[in-house]
Amino acid sequence: MIRLSPSQLDDIHAQAEAAYPYECCGLLAGYRDGDGNIIVTQVVSSPNTWVDRQAETGKDRFEVDPQVRFDLMRAIKSANEEIVGHYHSHPDHPAKPSETDLDMAFEPELIWLITSVENRTVTATRAWQLNRETQDTVEVRLITVP
Ligand SMILES: [Zn+2]
Repeated sequence: MIRLSPSQLDDIHAQAEAAYPYECCGLLAGYRDGDGNIIVTQVVSSPNTWVDRQAETGKDRFEVDPQVRFDLMRAIKSANEEIVGHYHSHPDHPAKPSETDLDMAFEPELIWLITSVENRTVTATRAWQLNRETQDTVEVRLITVP
């Protein structure tokens, strides 16, 4: 299970709609509680550096700015938190990992939060995690608690 606050989810949705028809992206910082649940403490947006490099193919892929990741890792180190996942949007595609996403899933411990946007309006957000054995993804329950 992964837990966000409603305002964190609203933040991601606003970014997803603003980035349309391109993908927005960012990182999720937080911690795991005693039951293995993931609690998100921070949603940190990133420029989609893939779009900056080649806009013509940027509609179906994303790349988090390495500097954003570096800065976040440094900021949370003393807070006993870690990067627990990342998020990106799927303009006019379902909220599940694409073939391209699976090709780029190098960090199986991270949660993938994917927001589907149709005509600049968010329709769904779902969370996923890579299953190391099957190399497939499994859905992770997403809940919001203020
Ligand atoms: Zn994707």
